[in-house]
Amino acid sequence: MGKATGFLEYKRKGAKYVEPQDRLNNFDEFVIPLDEKEQQIQAARCMDCGIPFCLSGVMYGNSVSGCPNGNLIPEWNELIYQGNYKEAWERLCKTNPLPEMTSRVCPAPCEGACTNGIDGEPVTIHYNERLISDKAFANGWVREDGEPILETGKKVAIVGSGPAGLSAAWRLNKLGHKVTVYERNDTVGGLLMYGIPNMKLDKDVVAQRVNIMKDLGIKFILNCNVGKDISYDQLNAQYDAILLTGGSTVPRDLNIPGRDLSGVKFAVDFLTDTTKTLLKDGPKSLKETMKGMNVIVIGGGDTGNDCVGTSLRRGAHVEQFEIMPEAPENRAYDNPWPTFPRTKKTDYGQQEAIYLQGKDPRTYEINTLKFNGEDGKVVSVDTVKIKWKKNTEGRFIPVPIEGTEKTYKADLVLLCMGFTGPEQNTLDEFNITVPREGYSTINEKVFVAGDMRRGQSLVIWAIYEGRSAAEEIDAYLMKNI
Ligand SMILES: Cc1cc2nc3c(=O)[nH]c(=O)nc-3n(C[C@H](O)[C@H](O)[C@H](O)COP(=O)(O)OP(=O)(O)OC[C@H]3O[C@@H](n4cnc5c(N)ncnc54)[C@H](O)[C@@H]3O)c2cc1C
Ligand code: SF4
Repeated sequence: MGKATGFLEYKRKGAKYVEPQDRLNNFDEFVIPLDEKEQQIQAARCMDCGIPFCLSGVMYGNSVSGCPNGNLIPEWNELIYQGNYKEAWERLCKTNPLPEMTSRVCPAPCEGACTNGIDGEPVTIHYNERLISDKAFANGWVREDGEPILETGKKVAIVGSGPAGLSAAWRLNKLGHKVTVYERNDTVGGLLMYGIPNMKLDKDVVAQRVNIMKDLGIKFILNCNVGKDISYDQLNAQYDAILLTGGSTVPRDLNIPGRDLSGVKFAVDFLTDTTKTLLKDGPKSLKETMKGMNVIVIGGGDTGNDCVGTSLRRGAHVEQFEIMPEAPENRAYDNPWPTFPRTKKTDYGQQEAIYLQGKDPRTYEINTLKFNGEDGKVVSVDTVKIKWKKNTEGRFIPVPIEGTEKTYKADLVLLCMGFTGPEQNTLDEFNITVPREGYSTINEKVFVAGDMRRGQSLVIWAIYEGRSAAEEIDAYLMKNI
């Protein structure tokens, strides 16, 4: 619970960010955690509210309230306050095998459901988790959590090395099974590696976990596209169970005139190229590589924000389009505690654009009508402002506002409109459909988890799905022993 009166005595204090003028010069992580003593005071704000919604992970409609992974938050808040970090770590890794990732990138639905937030400010759960995770790595406690407890002689293949695959691999290995992870990319990590930019999650953080996993006996086979380089039949012959965690990788497209012009790209391709160059040639090789370019980011979500921050670091001028209305500053009447707050967030990329360009890069309620080109290359984008109105069937539809047509200069357009689902050819290779309930499929040896199963989501959902699927696979493998 922290300290009984902590929530009355102490104000919330979050981590600091490196100032935009400094962080724009590099691709380094920009969050500066509080020092240990200050973070302990923040943990003391946990009031032991009795029914902690912060760890409930309940779905209200299609959004989650509380930690999807059921992290034992009040317990570790108390242990941080006591300075008992080892036990705090043991509690944390009971549910979360990758807290160094979530404590950097999770949007913290737990905090939206913190009881302190009903009439005040929530506990800094996200940064408390970071302190425990930092302590565990600094003290060498991480490996022991993954030590196998027995050897079953069973072999499991995991297809895809994103957070779902890594979480499942950690748990299955601990349960005594021999795990091999197949990844078609040149590096382990899925969107943790190629997707989420280095400023939010340093790639050394991913590598440090992967090295421990290798040391624990988990095997990684890279540059291997399952379905092309190795078939289902080959995997089936070698393994007792197969888990597919290939992600929700088909991006939502914008099929308007000019879509085939060069310079109109999907966000993940752009972010992946940037990270690959950064890792191969260092930050200097990216500096001013987009100087003088006008970038249009279509999509106002987190991926769009990552594209804004990345483009600015490479020297471009950025505009960001969002078709939905601007979110309110405070919770709306239909978005009460403990639902995830759908309030306006000005994220790091937008803050940087405000610093560099003098205004928020976002334009709301704007529709993109056409990409214009010259010599096969995009040069501008036609837009119109819209209003959302109900049609005769009672559905909201975007209606153009006459006279608001505008053309924006564009040398690069980044499409950040989400993902529609997994790749059909992988499912075809295994002759399965995506399970709606649980992780098993019509082929009893084949399981599915992560974004591949639930659709585009969050790192913490992928972690939860990976470890839950691991339990289901373990039950399947052990039932005849
Ligand atoms: C740009 C971006 C930023 C994001 N930022 C955040 C954030 O800040 N916080 C957050 O919580 N969530 C964020 N997300 C969402 C989060 O990254 C995903 O929900 C999460 O990574 C899903 O994990 P996964 O393991 O299911 O799939 P993925 O991370 O997509 O991993 C799937 C892996 O499977 C591999 N694969 C696919 N098919 C095959 C095959 N046939 N053979 C071999 N390998 C294969 C892929 O190469 C990939 O490495 C972001 C997403 C994007 C796109
Ligand atoms: S994983 Fe996310 S939701 Fe869960 S406790 Fe950590 S920050 Fe909160």
